[in-house]
Amino acid sequence: MAGQKDIAPPFATLRRALLLWYRKNRRDLPWRKSRDPYAIWVSEIMLQQTRVAVVIERYQAFVERFPTLLALALAPEQEVLALWSGLGYYRRARMLHKAAQYVTETQHGTLPTTAAELRTLPGIGDYTAAAIASIAHGEPIAVVDGNVERVVCRLAGWEAPTKTQSTALRKRVAEFAQQMLDRLHVGDFNQAMMELGALVCTPRSPQCLTCPLRKHCKTRGEHKTAPRARMRSQEAGYALTVRTNAAYGKDGSRSQREVLLEQRPAEATVMPGLWELPPLRDPAVPESVLRLTVRHAIMQVNYYVRIRTVFEDDVERLAIEPAGERRWVPLDTAATMALTGLARKVLARTHLLPAPPLDTVAPGTP
Ligand code: SF4
Repeated sequence: MAGQKDIAPPFATLRRALLLWYRKNRRDLPWRKSRDPYAIWVSEIMLQQTRVAVVIERYQAFVERFPTLLALALAPEQEVLALWSGLGYYRRARMLHKAAQYVTETQHGTLPTTAAELRTLPGIGDYTAAAIASIAHGEPIAVVDGNVERVVCRLAGWEAPTKTQSTALRKRVAEFAQQMLDRLHVGDFNQAMMELGALVCTPRSPQCLTCPLRKHCKTRGEHKTAPRARMRSQEAGYALTVRTNAAYGKDGSRSQREVLLEQRPAEATVMPGLWELPPLRDPAVPESVLRLTVRHAIMQVNYYVRIRTVFEDDVERLAIEPAGERRWVPLDTAATMALTGLARKVLARTHLLPAPPLDTVAPGTP
């Protein structure tokens, strides 16, 4: 292939060095203990655009509740979204759920084994199909995610493709990765490439001195890095309205605290169907009534969010008229609902709900 001849990489040496490094340095991640294609599928979808530390806790809870593809297919969507809470990008959860239902209806609940067949399922693209087929079934197909793309470009001395750039370069990267693939240890090799990109050949400061591939690397850190996308800033405000329902319990003898939540409309472009605090008409909350400020990142936007305590009688006046349902929800029920990451964060910071894993909501929550 043009462009690869000029670097003539000794692939056998690269493979050996990489696999040796991986076996010594790989992280002990829960999904690496399984060859179950369903478990690999769930982890791969969760890991897209979400930090590993956040995925670890959510993954365990998710596969405990939905241990099989069938269990996931049979679950109500709101429960799937609730278990996804904190991971962000809820469209992934919906697609995963729909694909599980599709596989249950059309393929007796068994995922296809080849990457080509996997790609025909809703929500499974080239990357996920290659990951499942290679890790679960040993199909000799290279996985190319952002980490692998970066490692290959640096190894080969090619400029990293940007979002708007170069299908040709992406194809070249995929071909290089495919040539480099160790056909005897396909799953480990693919995971090793991704792990190297995540731990050593990182976007901003590659650790070239400890890199197992440094002898054969064209750039060794001297590589132009694509500039970070600029984050925009936006202000937002939400009402925190809590009441005590004294008539709770069959005999009315117990009381329970409830929070006012509303459901985002099904046709909303971000986070449709999720539950949130009522948005305020005016995000400029005066200091005297300010309860909490929170910074929350969604995709390329940094939201500076002000929360004010609003009495029940003032909600209609201060909050935007809801497009979806608004309802009083007992706090223990709210904890199990499909809340937006921001709503969960606010309820945790005000000690109304337990803290989400690592008190962290993944940047990017739609
Ligand atoms: S030597 Fe440096 S730039 Fe090259 S692959 Fe290793 S970490 Fe990346």
